[in-house]
Amino acid sequence: QDLLGRIDRLDGQLNSFITVTAEQALSAADQADQQRANGQAGPLTGVPLAIKDIFCTQGVKTSCGSKMLDNFVAPYDATVVSKLRAAGTVSLGKTNMDEFAMGSSNENSFYGPVKNPWDLTAVPGGSSGGSAAAVAAGLVPAALGTDTGGSIRQPAAFCGITGLKPTYGRVSRYGMIAYASSLDQGGPMARSAADCALLLNTIAGHDARDSTSIARGVPDYSEELDAPLAGLKIGLPREYFGDGLDADVETAIRDAIKVFESLGASVREVSLPHTSYAIPAYYVIAPAEASSNLSRYDGVRFGHRCDNPSDLIDLYKRSRAEGFGDEVKRRILIGTHTLSEGFFDAYYKKAQQVRRLIRQDFLGAFEEVDVLMGPATPTPAFDLGATKDPVSMYLQDIYTIAINLAGIPGISVPAGFSGKRPVGLQILGTHFSEARLLNVAHQFQ
Ligand code: GLN
Repeated sequence: QDLLGRIDRLDGQLNSFITVTAEQALSAADQADQQRANGQAGPLTGVPLAIKDIFCTQGVKTSCGSKMLDNFVAPYDATVVSKLRAAGTVSLGKTNMDEFAMGSSNENSFYGPVKNPWDLTAVPGGSSGGSAAAVAAGLVPAALGTDTGGSIRQPAAFCGITGLKPTYGRVSRYGMIAYASSLDQGGPMARSAADCALLLNTIAGHDARDSTSIARGVPDYSEELDAPLAGLKIGLPREYFGDGLDADVETAIRDAIKVFESLGASVREVSLPHTSYAIPAYYVIAPAEASSNLSRYDGVRFGHRCDNPSDLIDLYKRSRAEGFGDEVKRRILIGTHTLSEGFFDAYYKKAQQVRRLIRQDFLGAFEEVDVLMGPATPTPAFDLGATKDPVSMYLQDIYTIAINLAGIPGISVPAGFSGKRPVGLQILGTHFSEARLLNVAHQFQ
């Protein structure tokens, strides 16, 4: 009730929620009280949280930030949503996001931009900007996000919270609306690594309903949090400290690395030579997959339908023209172009080859060091309305998207400020090293 009141008071300004589910929340809270009274409480019983509006929630509008799904009430729960419900958490609602998770500022939402709670003239980052702002403003202690090319880590960095993108396949994608299926991964956003560990304990694991989820045991991510860092080998990718890195961000990151040295870690420079190809490869692969995934929104089966279509083609054309925003249309055009006959080898196939080289860069680095560290973003949160050209928006993702191409996990941790705006330290590890990342982040916090 306290948090619902807080949302009422503050969210008019922040716009971090698309839907607040007050009634359902109060009845879930009653159930949690009951569980506690019966001695059946677990670590998350009664914990309030928020869910990015990309996750299907039974009986609750699931818009994915799009006019296309403004009228869509999901008939079932995403696997992570049902796991969190079963663990006794209390969802307060669905958070704002860039339309179909395409964006780095939350300005592509049909429901309007979200404001950064630290500075209302700044963006919160995207695409999980609503989740990040809601946690940062104390509207919820934790939230679910998704990360296809940085959408958990970048808004976490801009809003001064902790956000973990797990290894591809660690968390089920069932019921998570698809953007780029070979890159999409859900994960926790919270005020600390310890809180992220609690959420990951619940949401991780194999799911027979997601053919890319991995059948591998789930460790207790809370168990290793206190392990000492003496002897930890940290690599600093040379390419992550070059041109374009804001001076305040660099200072904050270098200061953070000194803290790890004081905790007994050793630091050396490493190279990820294909870094500069990550943005072009990602912005071929992600739109290609998106153009295929978004073909289901045809105005027939579900979602927005235009009025009085004259025939089937008119129905498709006008429903899609009215339902999708500009950025989504741009990606559909890029994706259908790069997948078309005559262009496939030059673009899509080439991008997949580059993707393999990027993955090998990381695997090579992890033969020498335990974790990599660097900035999560090249600058602190930028001003709302300031970045109008799509390519400069894509360049914001320089330090986050290679991680999705490689499938490895990454976490963004608060590491100081540039003026009023937070700076995020990114920590990366090899596949399935989430326990290690959470441990390293926790020791810093
Ligand atoms: N900013 C990137 C994009 O627009 C990443 C978004 C995401 O991770 N969902 O595609």
